[in-house]
Amino acid sequence: MDEAQQKARLAEIRRKIDELSYQYYTLDKPTMTDYEYDMMYRELETIEKDHPDWVTADSPTQRVGSKISGGFEKYTHDRPMLSLGDVFNDGELREFDQRVRHDLDGEDLEYVVELKIDGLAVNLIYEQGRFIRGVTRGNGVVGEDITNNVRTIRTIPLRIDSTSPHIEIRGEVYMPVASFEALNTQRRDDEQEPFANPRNAAAGSLRQLDPGITAQRKLAFFAYALGGTVGIEIPSQEALLDDLKNFHFQVNQEYRKFTSIEDVIAFIHTWDDRRDSLPYATDGMVIKVNSFAQQARLGNTVKIPRWAIAYKFPPEQAKTKILGISVSLGRTGVLTPAADLKPVHLAGTTVKRATLHNEDYIREKDIRIGDTVIIQKAGEIIPEVIRPVLTDRTGSEQEFTMPAVCPSCGGPVVRKEGEAATRCINPDCPAVIGEKIAHFVSRDAMNIDGLGDAIVQQLLAHSLIHDVSDIYALQKTDLIDLEGFGEKSADNLLKAIEKSKSAGLARVLFALGIRFVGAKAGRVLAESFGSIEAIENASLEDITAIGDIGPSIAQSMTAFFGDELNRAVVQKLAAYGVTMTAEKHRLINTTFDGEIVVLTGKLTQMTRKEAQQAVEDRGGKCTGSVTKKTTLVVAGADPGSKYDTAVKLGTHIISESEFSDWLQRETEPEKQEN
Ligand code: NAD
Repeated sequence: MDEAQQKARLAEIRRKIDELSYQYYTLDKPTMTDYEYDMMYRELETIEKDHPDWVTADSPTQRVGSKISGGFEKYTHDRPMLSLGDVFNDGELREFDQRVRHDLDGEDLEYVVELKIDGLAVNLIYEQGRFIRGVTRGNGVVGEDITNNVRTIRTIPLRIDSTSPHIEIRGEVYMPVASFEALNTQRRDDEQEPFANPRNAAAGSLRQLDPGITAQRKLAFFAYALGGTVGIEIPSQEALLDDLKNFHFQVNQEYRKFTSIEDVIAFIHTWDDRRDSLPYATDGMVIKVNSFAQQARLGNTVKIPRWAIAYKFPPEQAKTKILGISVSLGRTGVLTPAADLKPVHLAGTTVKRATLHNEDYIREKDIRIGDTVIIQKAGEIIPEVIRPVLTDRTGSEQEFTMPAVCPSCGGPVVRKEGEAATRCINPDCPAVIGEKIAHFVSRDAMNIDGLGDAIVQQLLAHSLIHDVSDIYALQKTDLIDLEGFGEKSADNLLKAIEKSKSAGLARVLFALGIRFVGAKAGRVLAESFGSIEAIENASLEDITAIGDIGPSIAQSMTAFFGDELNRAVVQKLAAYGVTMTAEKHRLINTTFDGEIVVLTGKLTQMTRKEAQQAVEDRGGKCTGSVTKKTTLVVAGADPGSKYDTAVKLGTHIISESEFSDWLQRETEPEKQEN
């Protein structure tokens, strides 16, 4: 490449990186994999290194993150929040070590090695021990004030044991893999685009203008750094992590300390096979010089510290061939294309299928049957096809067209203008009914064991069921005739069906598969209204008046119950004896939703009974002893053995004053008369 060509390439990469950063940081919708982005960024760095005079202040190498979007107040960090330099193999990490040792004149040093959590960095400001502000990293200098959203994250203490006038705690807000998968399943069901990875999901959830939505997203936080802070003397990263634990922050416990880079490298490789089993996503390790005095001597560039580096794990991608494209149906009738692949090993499993999302995705990426493709797992169980390898094309590849009729019932399919989804509109389509039933009987819904897909398909084929309510009309004679059924299995299934009748209204509401109504919304609605009639008669305003129920859920509820067919199914369920009532218990909010809480020690501001009531009023459950299932322990004065067990199990523990703060976390006040 001559100079002119290099300059042109430089301009092109800068423009492309700016565009990708905008899609990634501002829209939370990356269009390229991190690895591809990182390699392009490397190319930019190399060109700029060869031509230092070409570096401009607006080059992506001189900036952290991307432009700040509107919607939030801006906040200037006392100390910039930097990014990290990165290395991609052992050799590059050894070079980093040599540079550090050289810059420290050969002094002895220690490294603290932490997991790199794939979330987004935030800065939490405490004054006199009280949480007063939460800010995103933003462009490193100026961030967005997301205080109200941060307040909804349960692992962030709203009070810490310190009288310092100003403490800044920095760390990573992340979305646990289980929440990420649940969120994406829900989004697919709701025909919303799923998030590409847990980091984008966390960022998208944290930068919501409505804190109620952030609260539903089950975010968590690991603390790992300090920002501008007054009156605290800490000598090292290791000591800092200890102090952060004492402040009751969650600190990722996988960190280790080493004196030699070879030991660091050996430790990094112990994660090669283990990192997929972690309950949160990591994209590498961060290697930090332990001593703060040495860190200060090494200093920072405008963008990254010189005393730390990220070792990025190789991407979890694989190359394989698309043998065919098949289309499956979801419970909303949406046709989803998936690639049938030549089996390939990826991130510890053999992959035979990968999602292609929808017709537009296939078109945009120009993916064809017979193509060699790159597939990727992005913290999700379902892998996706990223792109075709165009250089491997032979010319025999075939373009895919969406079927013009439903592959299950042969009925017409439609694609509405402006929508990416193609759907089957036949209400009697067996595939759609099958999916609806699968959801209805699933564990968090009516929990009917033994009604698997194959049986449902047989029942449909024999015209024994047409909608979910028909499950309750099944007789032993109906089942015995089916393939694979004996006396005993028929009895067991009928027993499970009978038992499910008392699952309660909350589960029924979830099981009906109403758009946006997840298990939690089901609980809130059931406990607020107390009966199906009350829900059917509720107006849009009645429903939106409930704390934690947003306008989309309310609209979807009224649309569902406005449809005569749906009402008929609900009536039939009631007629078969399915419980359609719930104990009316107006939840104040859902701060403790899903939490299993144990109270221990003496409480000074309220009695145990009041505390228990307060937890239950906010969607939580109180139990008597600490087990693996316990999610939160409230420790009053002089806590006993329950506290010790909680420490051993690593359970989240909060003090009485933090508990009081949790009780203040009212997302929406109660507005409706009972
Ligand atoms: P980064 O993610 O490579 O590393 C810095 C960040 O690591 C910190 O800001 C912090 O948030 C995080 N981190 C996690 N655990 C940490 C720990 N224990 N200690 C310290 N920090 C920790 O850098 P970045 O500037 O946040 O983002 C750049 C990266 O984002 C790129 O390398 C690329 O992978 C990705 N990206 C991708 C695209 C795309 O189109 N796919 C676009 C832009 C950026």
